[in-house]
Amino acid sequence: MKNKNIEQMIDPLLDWYKNNKRDLPWRQTIDPYQIWVSEIMLQQTKVEAVIPYFKKFIENIPSLDALSQIEEERLLKLWEGLGYYSRVKNMQKCAKQLISEDLHSLPSSYLELLKLPGIGPYTAGAIASIAFGERVSAVDGNVLRVISRVIASHKNISDAKVKKEIELLLNEYIPKESGDFNQSLMELGATICIPSHPRCNICPIQNLCIAYQKKEMYLLPIKEKRKTQKEIEMTIFLFYYKGKIAIKKRKNTGILASLFEFPNSQNSFDLNKIPYSFEKVLKTPLYKHIFTHQIWHMKGFIIFLTEKPKDSFIWASLEQLENNYSLPTAFKYFLNDLYKIKRVS
Ligand code: SF4
Repeated sequence: MKNKNIEQMIDPLLDWYKNNKRDLPWRQTIDPYQIWVSEIMLQQTKVEAVIPYFKKFIENIPSLDALSQIEEERLLKLWEGLGYYSRVKNMQKCAKQLISEDLHSLPSSYLELLKLPGIGPYTAGAIASIAFGERVSAVDGNVLRVISRVIASHKNISDAKVKKEIELLLNEYIPKESGDFNQSLMELGATICIPSHPRCNICPIQNLCIAYQKKEMYLLPIKEKRKTQKEIEMTIFLFYYKGKIAIKKRKNTGILASLFEFPNSQNSFDLNKIPYSFEKVLKTPLYKHIFTHQIWHMKGFIIFLTEKPKDSFIWASLEQLENNYSLPTAFKYFLNDLYKIKRVS
């Protein structure tokens, strides 16, 4: 598959990138480990939010060796707030695997990188091109959007086959400055060729963009709507005893695996079913948390216990909850309510 517009956009994009790229911490290095960490963090999180996490992560875990050795609890704590914890667990799995094979750095080729846990075509392409200069594409959502517009493709970019086609199309043209070229496409997608209001008037490849010529830039790319997320009603029990709150560890598979949670249930709240003695119950506001495939609607109840239950809860103060335990964002909504009652109690 050949396309002259793609061929012709390489030089203007490289020039534009050189003069306009944002100064980001992971752009000051070609250390494959740091590039990998940044790419994994950026998969589901915006650049601005990633910067402080990235700096802290690299400060605390500066190498593959360090990542293979750090305790899971500390690792999850450093990731707390970024969500999608399977990303960082896979990173540690990957580090352990490499170290056990006596390899102390990431492999340098796209195909070898692809074999590692948690590394898909995009991440493999990004590391191989940015850190090692391999001439291979790295197609993320930004790149899919830019290319669909440049070639005015009406194919559904949620379809894996379409993504593969775009990877292969770009592979035909990747210049020797492969890392910069891939990043220039990502940067254009993030700052100029943005989803709903592309800034075509300042776009360096406007004259090569077929969507612009056909006035289809607002229609493209075609993206099939995500399947309906499952809506779940949750009751959250905030058992409060002598300034401490009951938490427990989630099971080690499934959503939010191995993180901490407040006891909860998918049944509605029934005062008579609380198996512990208590003096009063306060309702929290309703909270909603959206995951990729689920939406949780959470009703919280702060239950002031008069005796410590025998169940195997962990009892943590609010400070400990914030500093020592990986409490997912979905449960953090309740911390404000708990701080309020702490102030009045
Ligand atoms: S001209 Fe507009 S639609 Fe085309 S690549 Fe540039 S910003 Fe995107």
